[in-house]
Amino acid sequence: MTDTRESVGSNTSQTENQLEVKLVILGKSLVGKSALTYRFINDQFPKEHDTTIEDQYKITMSIDGYNCLLEILDTAGQDDYQSMLETWINFGSGFLLVYSIDDMESFTEVKKKYEKLTNIKKKDVFSAILVGNKCDLDENLRKVPTKDAEDFANSEGIPFLEASALKKINVRESFVKVVHDLLGKTQEKQKPGIFGKVCGCQII
Ligand code: GDP
Repeated sequence: MTDTRESVGSNTSQTENQLEVKLVILGKSLVGKSALTYRFINDQFPKEHDTTIEDQYKITMSIDGYNCLLEILDTAGQDDYQSMLETWINFGSGFLLVYSIDDMESFTEVKKKYEKLTNIKKKDVFSAILVGNKCDLDENLRKVPTKDAEDFANSEGIPFLEASALKKINVRESFVKVVHDLLGKTQEKQKPGIFGKVCGCQII
């Protein structure tokens, strides 16, 4: 796995109209990382919970006029696997930071993961979104106020959406936003004709 510390989307390959983007789903166990990923890829809610260690998917879709090959890494949330966090961070260039709106600990944990992310990578070389999953749950089960998440996201300059893999709310939007922002950062750094050099991309 490649270190992307110094360049936008180093793990991103581009032809004239095709882009390969590596996305990583981070968050505590049981917040719905797999359900969000499954919903995004299959447009269905998964029937059974199967504890994830690390699952990788590939999907092609058009985003901002690019034919994007998204490589999605659905990670484990359990403490046992936290030694792998650095590897996952180095793998990706776009990150979905997922907590569950009924679990304050999951919000605290995702903030710590974001801190680790910013310790490893400079903010201008990756994109991230804060996702509060399970927004379909009854309001009386809510432990993370929307305002707290908004305030955190604003203070870090990252987007924030509440989502539901179950009810198909803001799932595609969350994934697309990360890729869209990554493309924006890539284009900011890009100089005509030397995309590969500036961004560390390999022309395929
Ligand atoms: P992961 O460990 O973060 O990958 O979480 P999973 O995707 O395995 O989901 C954990 C549990 O939360 C499962 O019982 C899911 O059915 C449930 N779940 C996942 N997404 C949602 C959602 O959007 N709404 C609700 N109400 N439950 C969800």
